[in-house]
Amino acid sequence: MTHVLEDEVTLYLNGRLESDRVASIETHLSDCTVCKTRLDQTLHFITQLADIGRRQRVYASLEKRREPRFASEGILSLQLLRPLSFERLTGRIINVSRSGAALSLAVSLELGTLVQVRVGTMILLGEVRHCAKTGDDFRIGVRLEDVVESDLTPRAQSP
Ligand SMILES: [Zn+2]
Repeated sequence: MTHVLEDEVTLYLNGRLESDRVASIETHLSDCTVCKTRLDQTLHFITQLADIGRRQRVYASLEKRREPRFASEGILSLQLLRPLSFERLTGRIINVSRSGAALSLAVSLELGTLVQVRVGTMILLGEVRHCAKTGDDFRIGVRLEDVVESDLTPRAQSP
């Protein structure tokens, strides 16, 4: 099988890839170290480089949508990007601000984990900075590195 194209790696990390493509890429990634390395490098580029333009875009994007929208939708889907996992966890968004996002999950996450969080049509990329048990759940603090609006219409589950 041919390697994953670089553009597709970026779209995958940003959560903007069509779901049938996601499945085949994940199959490929699970046993191709070349592509796994490429994915990791792209992730590094997205999250680690100081990019003032991007940070301003994150802020502008968050300014546009007021918190009630996040609050009303609430349900999130989370994927670990580093360490990479193809499992999607479900949780709740507590709030999103310039300083980051607060999430509630049933499991704890290691500090420093890079995650992709989907809330409605918003996709947040960030790093886990806090994790604390609160009641039955864990409250996770994520420093936002990027915010992407997905232009994919959510697919209806086909029978
Ligand atoms: Zn490959």
